[in-house]
Amino acid sequence: MNHIAALERLKQGNQRFTEQLKQGSDPVPKKVQLQAEQNPMAIILGCSDARVPAELVFDQGLGDLFVIRVAGNIVAPSQIGSIEFAAATFGTPLVVVLGHSQCGAIAATLDQLTSDSTSTSPNLESIVSRIAPGISTLLEMPGSQDKATLTHYAVRANIRASVGQLRQGSRILEQLIGSGELTVVGAQYYIESGEVEFFE
Ligand SMILES: [Zn+2]
Repeated sequence: MNHIAALERLKQGNQRFTEQLKQGSDPVPKKVQLQAEQNPMAIILGCSDARVPAELVFDQGLGDLFVIRVAGNIVAPSQIGSIEFAAATFGTPLVVVLGHSQCGAIAATLDQLTSDSTSTSPNLESIVSRIAPGISTLLEMPGSQDKATLTHYAVRANIRASVGQLRQGSRILEQLIGSGELTVVGAQYYIESGEVEFFE
């Protein structure tokens, strides 16, 4: 499967998911069957937020997605290593950085950037400090006093920042991308509707 086919399957899966939501039925993955092997068509770097489980929102079954979840869908060495492993081992052609509306990690980072407070935990700080550089310039944007607007743009900027960091994340990833074997795209999940918007 190439990255275009994988992208199409994710889009169709999310469409099924939102249709199930509208019908009020519980979204159930189609393929709840044990898999002896994994052959993931996509790698998802998503947020840990309890409302955004990748397999459900893309309506995929066991073995279909290689999922890395971390608050704020940040890129740190362990995320890059996980992606290198999946891309090299399974030949997975697509990485999706999946951010989402109402992201707590983004809100916490914005709070810290707009006040003098710092995180009490160095571990939490390691997440905030990876998000901050990608969104700090938004504070100078007209309209940034409006918290909802600022958060909206910050979520998107953070997704794009992670995409950029992965594209230049390592020699292995650069080689796979350069040879056309791997494509990295950004996408935003909307908590309000269940829809995923893929960035171009
Ligand atoms: Zn989040």
